[in-house]
Amino acid sequence: MRYISTRGQAPALNFEDVVLTGLASDGGLYVPETIPQFSAEEIASWAGLPYTDIAYKVMHAFIGDEIPADTLKSMIEDTYGTFKHDAVTPLKQLDSNHYLLELFHGPTLAFKDVALQMLGRLLDHFLGKRNEHAVIMGATSGDTGSAAIEGCKPCDHVDIFILHPYNRVSEVQRRQMTTVLADNVFNIAVEGNFDDCQAIVKESFNNQDFLGGKTRLVAVNSINWARIMAQVVYYFVSAVAVGSPHRKVSFSVPSANFGDVFAGYIAYKMGLPVNQFVVATNANDILHRVISKNDFSKQPLLHTLSPSMDIVVSSNFERLLFDLYDNDGAAVEDLLKRFNNEPVHIEQPRWDKARELFDSLSVDDDTTIEVIKEAFERTGELLDPHTATGYRAAETCNRDKAVPMITLATAHPAKFEDAIVKAGFKGAPLPAHMADLMEREERFSVLPADAEAIQAFVVGNKR
Ligand SMILES: *Cc1c(COP(=O)(O)O)cnc(C)c1O
Repeated sequence: MRYISTRGQAPALNFEDVVLTGLASDGGLYVPETIPQFSAEEIASWAGLPYTDIAYKVMHAFIGDEIPADTLKSMIEDTYGTFKHDAVTPLKQLDSNHYLLELFHGPTLAFKDVALQMLGRLLDHFLGKRNEHAVIMGATSGDTGSAAIEGCKPCDHVDIFILHPYNRVSEVQRRQMTTVLADNVFNIAVEGNFDDCQAIVKESFNNQDFLGGKTRLVAVNSINWARIMAQVVYYFVSAVAVGSPHRKVSFSVPSANFGDVFAGYIAYKMGLPVNQFVVATNANDILHRVISKNDFSKQPLLHTLSPSMDIVVSSNFERLLFDLYDNDGAAVEDLLKRFNNEPVHIEQPRWDKARELFDSLSVDDDTTIEVIKEAFERTGELLDPHTATGYRAAETCNRDKAVPMITLATAHPAKFEDAIVKAGFKGAPLPAHMADLMEREERFSVLPADAEAIQAFVVGNKR
């Protein structure tokens, strides 16, 4: 399988190089040159298969023979063995035709585990094969950091350094990172804010000489194709569970960087019959504006009760643009260059085409709290604030009540107690396997907001 850049200028790469490279050298994102296809008969034959079997079929289509079958199978078994539910991503019926796809049974209780557990193992496999070593550096205000740490914990060839702003992340979020006591995991509490952390990471990527030689610096953001690939799986798994491909299904997806819902779009392109994708945002509504009124423009960042969806730009939207523009990298490059400075519009016929499949809604904090209350009264389910935006969008934008609607539950409510308490609940207990989180031993280093000091720490501690 060959992968090409959405800006059309970088060299085509195989899967291994795409995983190790992240961003393409022309600033674009890698996508498969052709999308693998599954026939309706083949999809129908997956009914009743375990998650890991479907995961193998889907991932193999993107990896080809670059990883031996037995190796890939055992990687997938290891990855999803870290999930606390046998179904990996169980589906719960909320009412006659609305379902909740629980993506939060992984080690950090959020959907990013589905992809990052797999990405860690893929990186380790390819690095080991090349006898190379990588350092991962990332900045987090919460969610992605812990999922990346858990994903890299089992890796022999990866050391991970995650920067968080000292005393500025919630205790649950901090402890999910700092209680992982593996030798290759380093938490750095930076005496500064999140922007300082991000700036230091960016500077380190721009000038990697401090690592001196063979060690590779790898990013953990959602632009890595392997993350999208791993997320494609649960669209098939959940759709088949409600009767696909004999019936169409719809999905409602709490969205920020557009990685999750884009994985659904890939499943659709691979042959899954989808009626509609509903894109839910919080008040950071760039996706809602572009989908509902073809206004693709930046707005200032807002801090909301669903912090994992607080973004200004949705990086993975570029992958959809590339498809809408029939793989014309120059057109995508031109659009995104202009987008940096001014609001832009997608060419009308191309936007119309996207609208055949995509609807959207922006849900503000007050409404999110209302939805948490209302959904609990109606269904007995306590939704986390991210999932609540998806639930409301599913109900508001549903085009056809006869089609099963699957709302993606992207986080466990215990992770975002703020919103739960604001909705009038005492709180949300952590699941049993995490119940002792507040008593576990923590390990982190407090360092000044200074790139040189932090780079010296990385060099001094990497293996
Ligand atoms: C990252 C995240 C999202 C948004 O997913 P994207 O792929 O960025 O669109 C939604 N909910 C939770 C809990 C997340 O962590």
